[in-house]
Amino acid sequence: GSSSIVHVRVTPLNSELALAVANDNTEQRAAEATRREFAVNVSHELKTPVGALSLLAETIEDNAEDTEMVRSFAKKIRKETRRLTKLIQEIIEISRLQGGESVMDYAPVDLAGVVAEVIDSVRMSADAKEIALVPEYAAAPEVMGDHDLLVMAVRNLVDNAINYSEPGKRVTVSLAREEGVARLAVIDQGLGIALEDQERIFERFYRTDPARSRDTGGTGLGLSIVKHVVLQHSGTVDLWSQPSVGSTFTIRLASDGDTADAGVADAAPA
Ligand code: ADP
Repeated sequence: GSSSIVHVRVTPLNSELALAVANDNTEQRAAEATRREFAVNVSHELKTPVGALSLLAETIEDNAEDTEMVRSFAKKIRKETRRLTKLIQEIIEISRLQGGESVMDYAPVDLAGVVAEVIDSVRMSADAKEIALVPEYAAAPEVMGDHDLLVMAVRNLVDNAINYSEPGKRVTVSLAREEGVARLAVIDQGLGIALEDQERIFERFYRTDPARSRDTGGTGLGLSIVKHVVLQHSGTVDLWSQPSVGSTFTIRLASDGDTADAGVADAAPA
């Protein structure tokens, strides 16, 4: 139906066009402005957790006898530190990905393995929210790519699907093959994303609900990383979403075949 129209598509073509116009002098200045803006955003994003940590430590100092309070604030410090660490890692990752120089470690990658690894690593947070993680393998496509970058991208999508869903919902990760293309979709029954936000959520630090993002340990960089990883692989990301129905993020990457043969070989006695 009309609700299945692709709302947003990120393609390498877009970014090539962006590079082409970037040769123009005015556009070069615009690119510099973007970099400056990123630096300003980064400083701001770092200031918030550091300020929070300082305040938490101060409160502990002033209430050292109150064991309960000390314990609960120490816990908050740990949570904030975790988020800060993630933020720093992602800033480094994004700078690398945007740097232009090739960061890819090209090799054949089994996407079913990528999905299994991601599902394993998020199982605890899904269980804590009673969210069912459902893998659906219609195929086991193999792509040429960087295994670690692909795991990071898929993990960001699944993390979001869990974070932006109410408890008890389902998150499906499906794998399929269309002629010459591997298709990986992360489907949630969560909050959904309003049409006017859909284009913008792939921007660095853009969030529809900053408080919720922060509360779930979000950095605002996850989808920007997804976009850059997919572009590095000359793939596309599509987003379909409807508020209070859910969201589907679909990654498509070039693929020559399935890993079925490799699987059979692995299973054979040595
Ligand atoms: P964050 O760390 O805030 O999750 P992301 O770049 O991963 O950063 O996502 C940007 C924003 O896009 C989120 O803050 C949220 O508003 C929105 N978003 C991302 N994924 C989903 C989803 N599956 N459902 C609803 N909203 C989402």
